[in-house]
Amino acid sequence: MLEGAHDGNAFRITALHPARNLSSRPDRFEIDPADHLKAQKTARASCHAIIGCYHSHPHGAARPSATDLAGAEQDNFLWLIVSDRELNAFVYRDGVFRGCMTGAD
Ligand SMILES: [Zn+2]
Repeated sequence: MLEGAHDGNAFRITALHPARNLSSRPDRFEIDPADHLKAQKTARASCHAIIGCYHSHPHGAARPSATDLAGAEQDNFLWLIVSDRELNAFVYRDGVFRGCMTGAD
């Protein structure tokens, strides 16, 4: 998870919080709730918040999958997705992901 703050479309990441993946499937992730809670408490102690998440698509493209879309809940949440070739950033808002490396709305 990504700790930090955001103002409009500007995100400032101040810390990374790795989390265990509880999914038994290699192509899915399910963040350990205990790791999520710990990251939230740590962020709050620094007057920050969890503003995003990061994960890899080792066998796919560095863009949100249908599963990512189905699991996305929080608006204005930053998603960093890395493949074996690139790293891309997206913001989830109003039910869709918007790429923020390309400047696209
Ligand atoms: Zn994904």
